[in-house]
Amino acid sequence: MLNQINGLHHVTSLASSARANNAFFTDALGLRRVKKTVNFDNPNVYHLYYGDETGTPGTVMTYFPFPHAKRGQKGTGEVGRTAFSVPEGSLAAWADRLATLGATGLGQDTRFGEHRLLFDGPDGDSFALVETADDSRNPWTEGGVSDQMAIRGFHSADMRLADAGATGELLRYMGYEETDKQDAVTRYHVRGGNEANVIDIETLPETPAHQGAGSVHHIAFSVDNRARQLEVREALIDSGHAVTPVIDRDYFWAIYFRAPGGVLFEVATNEPGFNTDEDTAHLGSALKLPSQHAHLREKLEKTLDPID
Ligand code: ZN
Repeated sequence: MLNQINGLHHVTSLASSARANNAFFTDALGLRRVKKTVNFDNPNVYHLYYGDETGTPGTVMTYFPFPHAKRGQKGTGEVGRTAFSVPEGSLAAWADRLATLGATGLGQDTRFGEHRLLFDGPDGDSFALVETADDSRNPWTEGGVSDQMAIRGFHSADMRLADAGATGELLRYMGYEETDKQDAVTRYHVRGGNEANVIDIETLPETPAHQGAGSVHHIAFSVDNRARQLEVREALIDSGHAVTPVIDRDYFWAIYFRAPGGVLFEVATNEPGFNTDEDTAHLGSALKLPSQHAHLREKLEKTLDPID
């Protein structure tokens, strides 16, 4: 069993409108946009990152907004819901806030004793806010959401799979422990990691999801540094997974592999972080391009939709 994984690093999803996506995460949810860059593999599309003040791993929701992308179709083989941690007693205020802002899919339930507010993002993305008693993370409060209710970071990601067995086994290999089970949902925790340390696997009859706007593209797990990432890469390859080489994403190094249930996994380093090319006070304000796409700046500044 590996011991390098800290929990989630980021979750990356698809959207249909950069402007609507930016407004939802910064205005409605009050997160900070910590980076405005492009998809390194397709620089005609933005890559937008939202999180806490500095984009601490475990707080960062990211998007590839493809203009006018068709909505995804929910099903098995994907992350079906992404959950954020909020303070105890804040759900009623969140329910009011999101209802006032016209959010859809609002509902409340309890999972493993924790109260959840369910809601949809602008492309029908499934989210939850989960009341968490002892989350010590500092929220970003300059986005118009008070400290009493502001999002602390991720609580968990909820994978929906037709067959939970092999992916559960992979999570245990990666250092997660099965800690609870309720109906069709099994909860996994990584101990001693960051506070975005929960994965739920929900088992459902097979109805394969089709990726589109509102779908999660991949989930990334955090490791401290490149040395630990190489240890994880080697161990995953030894256990039969097809893992990419290490890829430089400017703000972290990344490796990717497909989990047996169909979800794309990434392992990303906490180094160097988002203030490597802008200072903390100005994170997310300027369009940042990686060196390989710097020559496209003039064109991209004309073709990318303005979002502010
Ligand atoms: Zn990623």
